[in-house]
Amino acid sequence: MNGQFLEQLEQIVGRDGIRLEEPMSRHTTFRVGGAADVLVTPDRSVLSQVVALCKKERVPYYIIGNGSNLLVGDGGIRGVVIETKGAVNELRTEGERIVAGAGTLLSQAASRAASLGLAGMEFAAGIPGTVGGAVVMNAGAYGGEMKDILESVTVLDAEGHEKVLSVDELELGYRSSCILKNGYIVLEAVFHLAAGDETEIRARMQELAAKRMSKQPLEYPSAGSTFKRPEGYFAGKLIMDAGLRGYRVGGAQVAEKHCGFVINRGGATAADIVKLMEDVKCEVERQFHVTLEPEVKMLGEF
Ligand SMILES: Cc1cc2nc3c(=O)[nH]c(=O)nc-3n(C[C@H](O)[C@H](O)[C@H](O)COP(=O)(O)OP(=O)(O)OC[C@H]3O[C@@H](n4cnc5c(N)ncnc54)[C@H](O)[C@@H]3O)c2cc1C
Repeated sequence: MNGQFLEQLEQIVGRDGIRLEEPMSRHTTFRVGGAADVLVTPDRSVLSQVVALCKKERVPYYIIGNGSNLLVGDGGIRGVVIETKGAVNELRTEGERIVAGAGTLLSQAASRAASLGLAGMEFAAGIPGTVGGAVVMNAGAYGGEMKDILESVTVLDAEGHEKVLSVDELELGYRSSCILKNGYIVLEAVFHLAAGDETEIRARMQELAAKRMSKQPLEYPSAGSTFKRPEGYFAGKLIMDAGLRGYRVGGAQVAEKHCGFVINRGGATAADIVKLMEDVKCEVERQFHVTLEPEVKMLGEF
């Protein structure tokens, strides 16, 4: 990456908007990952210019939200990481609709909905991702998923044009959408909620938060459920039944509280986590003939 590229980038996002050799452990909930060459946090008005510059100069770029579903390699990331959290975070209401920028945290959007007496987003309040990451993953919990409340999403398409997609066009499935496959960047989402009672909404949110606290190892860094739910099974139960509760590789461990979570017990490397995931996958396959697929997205050099 040459100096001229960095100068041009600086003209777009300003000097304070650029970080060089930025440890990705600061931007992932696993608290793991080597340095990105460059990390920028552009606001919505200039995000498309950053992407256009990277394309013109053939510099690879990657979009991240809150890094809560990411495993970044120990070798870091060559190119530019574009972080939406804290920048693309407009949040407004239009009647029963909440319009949220991609970098808005789900907890913030859900809290706004609750304070306006809008129901339907309670399930999402405890998912530690951004709106953009949640659309990409069709994030869900406790019987709800993004698909149920999304009305439309504005994306930047691969040609750099803004496009509004209806919920049907997003091809939302179990922890999947068409966003990554089509090279889209989520800019904004519209959630259509229902009129409800603020006290009841907040009570439901508290009930779900308490469930999370009691079932999930929230006291340790992780990326949530490490593997997808295989058809007809629960990944956590398979891993527990395989005798892997508490299994450790270096600083990475299968959580004792919930075997579906791999946690960082302190000082874990991405290599530790990858090795542990491979061991778990092999053992589950050997004992139960079920193939576990990672839910966590891998990024960078391993
Ligand atoms: C403790 C814990 C509990 C969790 N519980 C749940 C749960 O109950 N349910 C659930 O579904 N998930 C859960 N997760 C996983 C995670 O929070 C979700 O997958 C979340 O939606 C990821 O959002 P993010 O902003 O952190 O995305 P990131 O991790 O930053 O990115 C995820 C993927 O989306 C892409 N991406 C992010 N933003 C954009 C954008 N604007 N445009 C295009 N691509 C983008 C990234 O490139 C990457 O491929 C949990 C994680 C943790 C740590």
